[in-house]
Amino acid sequence: RKWVYGFGAGGSDGTAKMKNLLGGKGANLAEMSSLGLPVPPGFTITTEVCTEFYKNGRNYPAGLEDQVKAGLTKVEDAIGARFGDASNPLLVSVRSGARVSMPGMMDTVLNLGLNDETVKGLEARSGDARFAYDSYRRFIQMYGNVVLNIDHHEFEEVLETHKRDADLHLDTDLKADDWKDVIKGYKKVVEHETGKPFPQDPHAQLWGAIGAVFESWLNPRANTYRRLHSIPEDWGTAVTVQSMVFGNMGEDCATGVAFTRNPSTGENAFYGEYLINAQGEDVVAGIRTPQHLTIKGKEANGSNLPAMEETMPGVFKQLDEVRLNLESHYRDMQDIEFTVQQGKLYMLQTRSGKRTAAAALKIAVDMATEKLIDETEAVRRVDAAALDQLLHPTIDPKAKKDILAKGLPASPGAAAGKIVFAADEAERRAGQNEKVILCRIETSPEDIHGMHAAQGILTTRGGMTSHAAVVARGMGRPCVSGAGDIRIDYKAQTLTVRGHTLKAGDLITLDGSTGEVMLGEVPTRQPELSGDFGTLMGWADKLRRMKVRANAETPLDAETARKFGAEGIGLCRTEHMFFDADRILAVREMILSEDEQGRRAALAKIEPMQRRDFVELFKIMKGLPVTIRLLDPPLHEFLPHGEREITDVATSLKIDEARVRDRVKSLSESNPMLGHRGCRLGISYPEIYEMQVVAIFSAAVEVKKETGDTVVPEIMIPLVGTRKELDILKAIIDRVATETTHQDGTRIEYQVGTMIELPRAALRAGSIAESAEFFSFGTNDLTQTTFGLSRDDAAMFLPTYLRQGIYENDPFVTLDQSGVGELVKIAAERGRATRPDIKLGICGEHGGDPASIKFCETVGLDYVSCSPYRVPIARLAAAQAVL
Ligand code: ADP
Ligand code: MG
Ligand code: MG
Repeated sequence: RKWVYGFGAGGSDGTAKMKNLLGGKGANLAEMSSLGLPVPPGFTITTEVCTEFYKNGRNYPAGLEDQVKAGLTKVEDAIGARFGDASNPLLVSVRSGARVSMPGMMDTVLNLGLNDETVKGLEARSGDARFAYDSYRRFIQMYGNVVLNIDHHEFEEVLETHKRDADLHLDTDLKADDWKDVIKGYKKVVEHETGKPFPQDPHAQLWGAIGAVFESWLNPRANTYRRLHSIPEDWGTAVTVQSMVFGNMGEDCATGVAFTRNPSTGENAFYGEYLINAQGEDVVAGIRTPQHLTIKGKEANGSNLPAMEETMPGVFKQLDEVRLNLESHYRDMQDIEFTVQQGKLYMLQTRSGKRTAAAALKIAVDMATEKLIDETEAVRRVDAAALDQLLHPTIDPKAKKDILAKGLPASPGAAAGKIVFAADEAERRAGQNEKVILCRIETSPEDIHGMHAAQGILTTRGGMTSHAAVVARGMGRPCVSGAGDIRIDYKAQTLTVRGHTLKAGDLITLDGSTGEVMLGEVPTRQPELSGDFGTLMGWADKLRRMKVRANAETPLDAETARKFGAEGIGLCRTEHMFFDADRILAVREMILSEDEQGRRAALAKIEPMQRRDFVELFKIMKGLPVTIRLLDPPLHEFLPHGEREITDVATSLKIDEARVRDRVKSLSESNPMLGHRGCRLGISYPEIYEMQVVAIFSAAVEVKKETGDTVVPEIMIPLVGTRKELDILKAIIDRVATETTHQDGTRIEYQVGTMIELPRAALRAGSIAESAEFFSFGTNDLTQTTFGLSRDDAAMFLPTYLRQGIYENDPFVTLDQSGVGELVKIAAERGRATRPDIKLGICGEHGGDPASIKFCETVGLDYVSCSPYRVPIARLAAAQAVL
């Protein structure tokens, strides 16, 4: 079996495609040298050796030793030096490389092969004693640390003591004799720590380093990283052994790292740093201030150190050619590492560069325009979930922030404003053009108007799927939830954290993307949607099959949704309209009424307001489909709960306080999620649904007459479990529709459908589809009812479940495909069997989650519907789902 793949010494055994076998680093070194780029020769020991090593009780497979020896000989021949030769020694680096780059693995060991004899050979050949001993001390330090597990500071201490005694300040001030002294000290450290002298035999050194790389695959740091990123243990790591080149041989030597395009903006400009007379990680280690590669980069960053373009123009030009060469070969932005030895350039690594969301977008669009990739590939390249970063205001990265506390990043975006503790107060102050942050222990549906009025929302309790988090995401309001270190005292109107006591009216800033809560007003930046954004969205729209709609009820949300490209409303939650200040009283009057007559009287007051809402919504949507869900939540959600509020309501409705209290009590349920809600309300109180249907149809008639747009309302019945429920309510809808539109003969087409959010509904979908013209999967409730898991209580144990791997993901964020998804599939199949043209969509939070969207594509849904701010994410994810 072939365990060892050579590169750089007259051709390569490997290619970039062999990452699984050679690791990312090894595969790309082989590829670069095949491209004719200057790569120091070496060889890579495969990941299969790692797997064998562990399978056989930490023993190497037969034949490995011979293949390593042969590999080494090839390198020796190519370089013209011998490993361990006292007069002309070959030195190598030993580098680890998994399939994906993995922090926690063994660090690279440089200058391996040096000992007390070979260092003299290196000195003689280079004619530079300082360089030779600098290399040797680096080697002992690195080998001591990563192979022999000796703590860094043991070596640092020796070096610092020497510098202090000799009155030297910079590492570069040390001469050969200084380094010789330091080396003596280092060797003592090794002997003291390991009980053995520093290994002098180069072959022992080499196998020591190789063994350490394989051992590091299963060290705790690497294990943790693998678990967090779901990297299988049996992938293994490769080891690359490569001949050394030296950036520390003098002023015509350097080492550096670069990106072929700017990784934060995406600009097509070379971007990188280098250090003269340095080796390895010196650039990133921060020992000296690195210099910029280009004059432009230097100026942009206000550096006064000369750029490589100035100090080494010839090498720079060559490097710039390598950059273009690599980009056109890999067709992606590359992150490269290089070294310059006595004016000659060597390439040591290349890989796809990490980048911000903004850069990913720009690079994808630019590369398609440059014809490096096609439009489909550009669409594939941008992480849909990361687009979120581009759609919300962000904290100015240059701003100073005083962080008070950290909660959960519940809804992205940054916002600053004055502290308010109540929804009404938030609305009042916002009405006076003040910017406020609504701070609550937790929020409930009664707070929606205040959340809408606020710039941002902070809660001290509740998780990523708490009421505050879900509603804030829906509205596009930044939200930090569950900031448990903060104490809110509603009575005293204070917020206390870490010794600070803030009062109502004090300024704070939230970053809903990180969960940070900051003191004062920290400057934020508005998102700028570049032309590239629109371009990429256009390409995505051409590719996707599914439509994208938004969950929206207010005109503002509907407008936002349109602006982001929504093709309709998939969920208009009419209950949100019930909470508005001008009608909550009438809603309460309706609920508190003794009989149908009283309810009808109250509903008659609500109807014109509800009609106005629909008129506005239909006008904004300009003939696009609008799915309206009839009243869903249990009635007690609309009633006051606090004593003071009960008194207020009783006074304004001129009824007895005791009656209000009684009604609140009688309506309270022990399990409201499974209680008197959804279509069950419509069955008990048909007059409520009748009023809503009147409002819908009279609005449709009005808009049709006024604008000529055809409005096709899709009326949706929530929480249906049996066909009978739907039949009863559909009969009412049909009757009221005829009555309402009959008056002036305007014909309004409409559809009646249902949410599928109960397992029974999914299983009986075949029968339900006989009456339902569309299904919308309400996957929030379907997840709750399938798991038997209340969203409001999940926070208590969900973290434990995730940590123990009982659930792979939070099922409220990413659709549980194997369970809840199975019900979706069953319902889709059975529904289609009865009614082949049944329209299918999803309107839960999952409608904006890329992984869940991919699943919706496989089931063949017609559309996904999500909160307005996630519409672009859904458009992109829907396109990627078909690729
Ligand atoms: P990492 O995976 O942490 O980036 P590398 O294996 O890339 O580790 O090594 C880190 C640095 O060590 C490289 O960026 C390069 O500067 C230096 N290095 C590695 N191999 C060699 C070599 N053969 N010659 C000179 N420098 C090397
Ligand atoms: Mg590297
Ligand atoms: Mg529901």
